[in-house]
Amino acid sequence: MTAAPGQSVVHEGWRTAPGPRVGILGAGQLARMLALAGYPLGIQCILLDRSPQASGAQVAPIVPGAFDRREDLEQLRDLVDVVTFDIENIPGPLLISLGERVQVYPPPVAIATTQDRLEEKTLFQSLGIPTTAFVRIDGPKDLAAAAATLGWPVVLKARRLGYDGRGQRVAKTAAELASAWQALGAVPSIAEAWVPFERELSLIGACGADRETVFYPLAENTHVEGILRKTVAPFPDPPLQATAERWLRALFDHFGYRGIMTVEFFVVDGALMANEIAPRVHNSGHWTIEGAETSQFENHLRAVLGWPLGSAAARGHAAMINLLGKAPPVGELLEMSGVHVHLYGKEPRTMRKLGHCTLVDTDRPSLLARTEQLQQVLARQL
Ligand code: AMP
Repeated sequence: MTAAPGQSVVHEGWRTAPGPRVGILGAGQLARMLALAGYPLGIQCILLDRSPQASGAQVAPIVPGAFDRREDLEQLRDLVDVVTFDIENIPGPLLISLGERVQVYPPPVAIATTQDRLEEKTLFQSLGIPTTAFVRIDGPKDLAAAAATLGWPVVLKARRLGYDGRGQRVAKTAAELASAWQALGAVPSIAEAWVPFERELSLIGACGADRETVFYPLAENTHVEGILRKTVAPFPDPPLQATAERWLRALFDHFGYRGIMTVEFFVVDGALMANEIAPRVHNSGHWTIEGAETSQFENHLRAVLGWPLGSAAARGHAAMINLLGKAPPVGELLEMSGVHVHLYGKEPRTMRKLGHCTLVDTDRPSLLARTEQLQQVLARQL
C-alpha cells in the first residue's frame, strides 16, 4: 500500500505491543541499533530527539523534543517503563529529577560525572585507576603552569562536550597552547600530558540487576584525528583483561551502575592507563552484533530492564571498520564474502559516521588479511 502524496503513513502498532517500553534520549545510530536489538525480544524502544528524521527515528517511534525541555522529557517518561540515553550531553540536573519519577539507567550520576573530564579523571585517581597526568585549566595563568608540570607536548581538552576528537588540541609550545585555549573558546579545560602509547584498547562490560556483570574481551582500536576507524577483537592478553575488568567492576560499584559501560585505555610500556569512560554502548563494541554471543545493544537493554544478561563471549575474531563521510559502495562490499554492512540512514557529510562493516573469522591472521582487503575496497571508493 502506498500513501498518496502529502498523506502521512502512521505506524501505530507499537501502541498495542505487549512488551516493555524503553525510552531513549537521543535518536542517533546507537539508539537505532538499540531499537533493532530490542525487537526480537519484544522490547519497544521509543526515542526523544529534536530531529524526527534522525537515524533512530527511521526504525522506532519518536517523541519530537529537546533533552533540556522538562515537558518533553515528561512526555517520554509517561510512555515508557525505563529511560536510557544514546548521547552524553543531557543536562545532569534534568536527568536526576527525571530519575525521581521513572527508572533511569545508567544512573544519572554516572552521566553527570563522565560529562566533565576533570571529574572523570579525579574519579580514576580516587579509585586507584592509573590515568594520564593532568592539570585543571581555568585561565591563562594555569596554562603557563601546565607545561611546567606536564612537559611538552600538552593535550588541551575542554572539560565538557568533547567527543570524536572535537574539543581538543595538541600544543608543542606556549604560543600554541595559548592559541589552542582560545580556539576551544577559552572554556574550563584540562591539560594532559601527551601519552606515547603503543596501542589503544577498550573494555565494554554490562552490569545488570543484583550486580550481575559480564565483560566482553578487550578490543584494539585505531583512531585517526581522534575518530575511531577500526576495532579488532578480542585483543588476547589475559593479565590486561583481568586488570581492566577489575577497574570496570570498581566503576560499576562506585556508581551502583546498570547498563553498558565502556572504558578506553592507552597501553604504555605494556600497562593500561585509563583515558575516558563512556556510560553507554560504544562504537568500539559494534563488532559484538555478529562477533559476540550477545551484542552490547541487547545486553544494555537486558541490563536496564533488570533481565538476565547474555554471554559476552566472542564468536571467534571480529573486525569493525567505520564508514565515514561518503556513501559506501554497498553492492561492491557485499561481493566480499562474509561482510556485514550496517548503514545508519544518514546523509553523507565530511567525516560523519554513516555506518560500519564487520567481519568475523575463526582465525585471526585470516581475519586481518580480509580486513585489509575490505579497507582497500573502501579506500578506492571513499
Ligand atoms: P578522547 O576524546 O580523550 O577519547 O581522545 C580522542 C583520541 O585522541 C584518543 O583516542 C587518542 O587517540 C588521542 N588522545 C587523547 N588524549 C591523548 C593523550 N593525552 N596523549 C596522546 N593521545 C591522546
